[in-house]
Amino acid sequence: MLTDRFAPSPTGELHLGHAFSAWLGWSGARAAGGRFLLRIEDLDRERARPEHVAGILRDLAWLGIDWDGEVLFQSSRLAAYAAALATLGVRGLTYRCTCSRRDIAEAASAPQEGGAAAHGPDGIVYPGTCRGRPAGDGPAAIRLDLAAAIAALGGAAAVGRLGFTEHDAGPDGETGRIMLDPAALLAATGDIVLRRRDGAPAYHLAVVLDDAFQGVTRVTRGRDLFAATPVQRLLQAALGLPEPEYRHHRLIRDASGRRLAKRDRDLSVAALRAAGATPREILAGLGVV
Ligand code: GLU
Ligand code: ZN
Repeated sequence: MLTDRFAPSPTGELHLGHAFSAWLGWSGARAAGGRFLLRIEDLDRERARPEHVAGILRDLAWLGIDWDGEVLFQSSRLAAYAAALATLGVRGLTYRCTCSRRDIAEAASAPQEGGAAAHGPDGIVYPGTCRGRPAGDGPAAIRLDLAAAIAALGGAAAVGRLGFTEHDAGPDGETGRIMLDPAALLAATGDIVLRRRDGAPAYHLAVVLDDAFQGVTRVTRGRDLFAATPVQRLLQAALGLPEPEYRHHRLIRDASGRRLAKRDRDLSVAALRAAGATPREILAGLGVV
């Protein structure tokens, strides 16, 4: 059965971009007689707030979006993330990293590396400083050793046969069956963080484990996350998880063409409601009804 999900981080009010994403996922699932699930991605303990969780539930209900079963909170899944991390560790696919942000920026832009640092889905591509070096017992992030993971999956040729199906389009119009490119992954994604230095599991690990745990078969989300999909697909393969299909939708922009962000409070669903807008007007403005 088609199962889609909406997975907001409760770090601000639901804005029009979220409403668009949730509506597309919900209406697609309902039209197919499928399930629609809600997951609250509350792993960032500093930024996640209970009042934002309450606001998300209230605003979705007001828009007419319902979900099946209980809401899944990522904060309830820490044991599962730790277990997967331990599995990857035992297989030699992770390493500890004690670098600060500044260390990474400096190492990545060192002249011998050829000038400007490469940027990937998590910002600067980690230059691999801590790979293969003893990282002691102090606070450390845990990173995926991407080259080791590619080798464990059977090498570059085998990883090049992995792919995902895109039902909408990526930022450059990518659609259909999209194959992983191991060389591009190494150059433009690199050794992503799986567990942050403060102990919090990182987004890519949590998202692939939870999509599998919840039986998600279609991931509807914004095109801003398209660049994160290849490494998430690789993690799915490394962890033996099923492959969902993807629908990366266009981004909603404000009147000046900027992508909406949490700072655009005037375009939050709550603010528009307070100003007298109806759900139908909001959805019509998004071009979905
Ligand atoms: N929690 C993420 C966000 O709010 C979305 C994760 C996903 O859809 O994969 O941007
Ligand atoms: Zn490091």
